[in-house]
Amino acid sequence: MPDLKIRADAGHVAWDMERFQFLDKQDDFDSIHPSLLRISKLNNNYGLYEVIPGIYQVRGADLSDITFIRGKTGWIVFDPLVSREVVRAAWKLFQQHVGQGLPVSAVIYSHTHGDHWGGVRGIIDEADVRSGKIPVIAPADFMDFTISENVYAGNAMNRRLFYQYGLLLPAAPHGYVGQGLGQGVSSGSPGLIAPTRYVEKPIEEFEVDGVRMIFQNTPNTEAPREMNTYIPDMKALWMAENVTATIHNIYTLRGAQVRDPLNWSKYIAEALHRFGVEAEVMFASHHWPRWGNARIQEILRAQRDTYAHLNNQVLHFANQGVTINEIHNVYEVPKSLQTKWYCRGYHGSPQHNSRGVIQRYLGFWDCNPTTLIPLSPRDSAPLYVEMMGGAQKIMERGQQLHNEGRYLHAQEIVNKLVLAEPQNQAAKDLLADIFEQLGYQQENPGLRNSYLSGAYELRTGIPQGETASSSSPDVIRAMSTELFLNFLAIRIDSRKAEGMRFTMNLVTPDNREEFLIELENATLTNIKGFQSAKPDLTLTINRSDLEQTMMGAKTLEAQLADGTAKAQGNIGILKQLAAMFVDFDPRFEVMPGTKATATKIAAANDYEAVPGKAIAE
Ligand SMILES: [Zn+2]
Repeated sequence: MPDLKIRADAGHVAWDMERFQFLDKQDDFDSIHPSLLRISKLNNNYGLYEVIPGIYQVRGADLSDITFIRGKTGWIVFDPLVSREVVRAAWKLFQQHVGQGLPVSAVIYSHTHGDHWGGVRGIIDEADVRSGKIPVIAPADFMDFTISENVYAGNAMNRRLFYQYGLLLPAAPHGYVGQGLGQGVSSGSPGLIAPTRYVEKPIEEFEVDGVRMIFQNTPNTEAPREMNTYIPDMKALWMAENVTATIHNIYTLRGAQVRDPLNWSKYIAEALHRFGVEAEVMFASHHWPRWGNARIQEILRAQRDTYAHLNNQVLHFANQGVTINEIHNVYEVPKSLQTKWYCRGYHGSPQHNSRGVIQRYLGFWDCNPTTLIPLSPRDSAPLYVEMMGGAQKIMERGQQLHNEGRYLHAQEIVNKLVLAEPQNQAAKDLLADIFEQLGYQQENPGLRNSYLSGAYELRTGIPQGETASSSSPDVIRAMSTELFLNFLAIRIDSRKAEGMRFTMNLVTPDNREEFLIELENATLTNIKGFQSAKPDLTLTINRSDLEQTMMGAKTLEAQLADGTAKAQGNIGILKQLAAMFVDFDPRFEVMPGTKATATKIAAANDYEAVPGKAIAE
């Protein structure tokens, strides 16, 4: 790929591989874990690759890979990256070399995460999808789960992404060095074209542009909905994101419901025994392919065992009393898996995954009553500082522990001081020093980025500036009205709703849905398919018009004023409701004393949900 930078239509740089060139200039860096450096160098491979004749990938143009498979009339595209600009660039490169000018004949989304569909508008026109010319194929319930995973806690997830993905860190030996799955996430414009064909059965076989494909649904593995695909006539096995060159996340640091490692392992086992026993090439949506049946089996078996062992051994310890606060210091990956590069923790780590397994089965409580209703850290810290003899003593001991390389001990006490004295910059700087050393030692980029991001904010505070994120219209359109209403209820500051009570009917004639919405007990609820016989207000608006309000393009007031929406009853309810909504700001304080002093984000529309962008993984 000749262009190290890919421009977004909006003018900024959407993708920049130039900033990672330093990784290849040196064999080692004292601030980068050697194993992390290795995967980051591998992820620096950037361009067009042949998997086998007829299957090609553009790799390194986003967090994920885009794959082109030769069909009878054109190219079948697997997983079109995050944004349209990088997809366009990948398609251009592909056509320059092996595309033969043939068109896209089908698109397949392997799963619900945004790095596997967001760039689709860079490669096909929606009109061709609507006319039936280009099928878009995805696992069952794709649309529901594409949006729902990230909406309710979206603002908190967006904040945490700054840590997991190191969004403020410069690419540098002492900063950001990649994300394990790829070098980063492109920042062009995302979009979504809804699938036209769903794979419903656990195993389903049909032809796509003349190519026989066997789809294996693998729900609740790496994503809530995901599928592997076997192409028998090419002996080619697509493992989606279920098997890449890493341990994946069971618990993801940006926050998500904990995944099921046993289920994941079983689906890999099924792929192994159904397809892996005869496949001659295996490829996926991140990293690189593997060739030869022996190698494929070796990798599938090791990946199967990685997730099963994590599940079983963590629960083995938990059943003997090891808690969520200890398991990361007790659980070890078996030696035979530790020595396999593709089972190292470049996305999930054994540490945070093992805690995730306990979280999944037993939850947060370690069963020590002290931790049942503990003081908030900021409330307990002053007592610690007082009992330890004050700030000066903690600083001296903390510095000493730091100098001795006992960073985990050092953070334990200096963190207490920072919590007790958020304005103590010397303490914050010392904690930042400690975090940086911990960060440099991590093999896992999420852990590294989190330590380095904590250090960054301790030193400089949370950056100011405009952060209000607008969702892609396509993503809003994919959101069900019920999901939107559920999220509105989360946006309400219920303390302002004490003593209020109303009943409202919402009717969206174009999709023939109706909702009964009630405010009572400072709680906004909705139920689909019901209407109140005596509502205080009935609001009628087409779902397609409501989307304009959901996107913030047109206020509900304006919709009512021009007659697009019709209200019957006490219209004052809408004003009352609007006054209770809170705009979530993704710059809330994580580390003490780091709050941005900038003005509030530009106020979002009163009726607009701000679900943030779909999160890539
Ligand atoms: Zn992905």
